[in-house]
Amino acid sequence: MPVDITEEKFVEDYKTKMLEMYSIDDADASRAQQYRVLASVVRDYYAQNWRNTLLKYQQNDRKQVYYFSIEFLPGRFLTQNMLNLGISEVVKSGLAKMGLDFDKIAQHEPEPGLGNGGLGRLASEFLDSAASEGIAMHGNGIRYQYGLFKQEFINGYQVELLDDWLRNGNIWEVRRENRACIVHFGGNVWLKEDSLGHFRAMYENTEDVIAVPYDIGIVGYRNGTVNNLRLWSAELPYNEHSRYTLAEKSRVNDIIEILYPDDSNYEGRLLRLKQEYFFVSAGVQSIVRSYRKHHRNLNRLGQRIAIHINDTHPAMAVAELMRVLMDEEFLSWEKAWNITNQVMSYTNHTLLSEALETWPEDMFAQTVPRIYQIIKEIDRRFKELMIPIHGADLVNSVAPLGNGQVRMAYLAVIGSHSVNGVAKIHTDLLTTSVLNGLYKIFPERFNNKTNGVTFRRWLQVANPGLTTLLDDKIGNNWHRDPNLLKGFNIFDKDKDTLDAVARVKHDNKTALADFISETLRTKVNTHAIFDVQIKRLHAYKRQLLHVMYIIDEYLQIKAGHKLANPRVHIFAAKAAPSYYYAKEIIKIINELANQINHDPVVKDQLKVIFIPNYGVSIAEKIIPAADVSEQISLAGKEASGTSNMKLMANGAVTLATLDGANIEMHDSLGDDDMVIFGLTVPEVENYHDYHSADIYNKDVRIKRILDAFIDGTLKNIETEGRDIFNSLVQYNDQYFLLADYESYAKAQDRIDKLYQDRTRWHQMIIHNIAASGRFSSDYTIARYAENIWQVDIDNPVGSKFNEQN
Ligand SMILES: *Cc1c(COP(=O)(O)O)cnc(C)c1O
Repeated sequence: MPVDITEEKFVEDYKTKMLEMYSIDDADASRAQQYRVLASVVRDYYAQNWRNTLLKYQQNDRKQVYYFSIEFLPGRFLTQNMLNLGISEVVKSGLAKMGLDFDKIAQHEPEPGLGNGGLGRLASEFLDSAASEGIAMHGNGIRYQYGLFKQEFINGYQVELLDDWLRNGNIWEVRRENRACIVHFGGNVWLKEDSLGHFRAMYENTEDVIAVPYDIGIVGYRNGTVNNLRLWSAELPYNEHSRYTLAEKSRVNDIIEILYPDDSNYEGRLLRLKQEYFFVSAGVQSIVRSYRKHHRNLNRLGQRIAIHINDTHPAMAVAELMRVLMDEEFLSWEKAWNITNQVMSYTNHTLLSEALETWPEDMFAQTVPRIYQIIKEIDRRFKELMIPIHGADLVNSVAPLGNGQVRMAYLAVIGSHSVNGVAKIHTDLLTTSVLNGLYKIFPERFNNKTNGVTFRRWLQVANPGLTTLLDDKIGNNWHRDPNLLKGFNIFDKDKDTLDAVARVKHDNKTALADFISETLRTKVNTHAIFDVQIKRLHAYKRQLLHVMYIIDEYLQIKAGHKLANPRVHIFAAKAAPSYYYAKEIIKIINELANQINHDPVVKDQLKVIFIPNYGVSIAEKIIPAADVSEQISLAGKEASGTSNMKLMANGAVTLATLDGANIEMHDSLGDDDMVIFGLTVPEVENYHDYHSADIYNKDVRIKRILDAFIDGTLKNIETEGRDIFNSLVQYNDQYFLLADYESYAKAQDRIDKLYQDRTRWHQMIIHNIAASGRFSSDYTIARYAENIWQVDIDNPVGSKFNEQN
């Protein structure tokens, strides 16, 4: 059901819109204005479908899913919306007729940086997939005034600049002040019996905030479906008598001002807690209110609404729904609890213990007193029910309250009917480690849903060259059903196809090389191996292991050897502003780049490129050009990973540890088409007396590499080099880099050998692309829909036949 417009109609719409919005002719418009006009025209093309979709859900009393996430990382909308509406050709040629270049205009769209990385990106992949599958699912989150910081490098150091993404407005959003809700913070609460015998929650001295929703349409792939992403902004309550001070205004603004720039440590604790309650309360209130409008009572709420808790940040939804059902709808505790349990489901995203959210009870009680009361009662009843069955030790260790803390992951599990991890190994480790206690109590709740990515963005939008080649060879049904990419395998001995694959990859490398040359003023050799590691900067992801290998190569060149292949090492990564160690690694990579890229001995054998300001748009440029995908986290630390899947689909060869979804990639590909190295999860678990200093002292090669950090071999890193060295040698190398180094270097040698056999390498590319379809988020979301939410799928893509999870 693509939108049906002609080129002439589009040109007319564009000109009219230019006049309406700016009262000028196109010739006088800036590129940024042209972008806003174009985006508005595209938005008009789905306005009717947006309204119809939501109306149809209501009329058919469809079960609706609300995906609660404190982060969404949607990337730019324009190109994706045009693709999904089926109007890319018409719009591009229409613009060309007017002498306009679509690509140049599209670059003026600000990217909404409302997420840190994988977690927020997954939320957006799911929205795109749900709309494309015809699943009634909507997002619920925060409209941060400023996105994650813009990253620049000054003297090699990361500098964080304000990301004022809303400065020129956001064409895709619609403000719906008529759907606003009030959120209460602080004050005192008590229960008072009214004349009907209902207990009413009485509030006094609360700080009230109005939550105003801004909705963004999420356009499905040529199916007429447009779902909703609802992002909440905070305002002061308003009436004709309101009089506020500036201080009150900024108290409210603080809540929605910034996205916390970390996905595995928490800071600015109180404000973060307020953010969480703010979007959860507004979301729950608006869901119940809208349900109420169309139903006489709440008896079937549990069959008509699903709320998904994406990681623990929205876990208060459990208590907030209880609050609304009891305090505002006067249901009994038992009835409200049954409904809540039916409605809620939870995804865990991490095994890192420092990332499992807890809040001090007193802070929690002061900030959200009613929610605290309800959690205390959940805690009391949980203990009362479970201690006789499972014993006090076990039950107390996993209750929502313990050690003076509110434990969000435990609250989420106890309040939900389903708990899932995001890759097979991750789910297994959840049940044996961080959530083992609750697994013993509720084994039937646990299930796995391996993450996925959308091939519409990562192939069709990001890699048109490869898309065209695939369409030529296997037709375009894979656009709807990416598993059909398997059909590409039969071309793995076809000379023409192998050549074409090589050509597409080389063209993409040339395009990236041009971008690098424009932005960083460094020329790179497009025949070198493009060895790519792009992801948040974190110790467990081990960018430093990759750095050690680069130093190794550099030392070999300096000693007069020649590398087996020239290499371009490409990094992109932001570090949390307070994560000092990660920022030291950024400084080191930049100085390494500076030294190696300017060393006349190295020539074009080796280059190090650190592309600043990593985000979805930068990922779209790098991924199609990658030869090697570095997925080298310490086994047991990366929950799933999703950049591994995007790179695989774009024909990069994965160099990986057996961690997260790498394991499932390896299940499909085997050892011939993937390069695996390093300790496995059980080996790490059983590695009892690790002494990194012994390895340093015994292994000459490793010693030489590590000494380079402190002996002046690498310039301008006196402090950072010493800190890194100490972390690896003195403080026993928490993430086992030295233990894995030899195996990693051997794996890199294997990459060199494979790359030199050009036919073999191009066959590997084909095998990787062909096997990548199972990682489509379309399948993942279909499985959430069937197994967790039990909602209808209008446009299934063979999900029932796919045995992925
Ligand atoms: C896919 C993606 C990620 C996740 O990368 P991982 O390597 O899985 O951590 C992070 N940021 C952006 C912008 C992405 O597109």
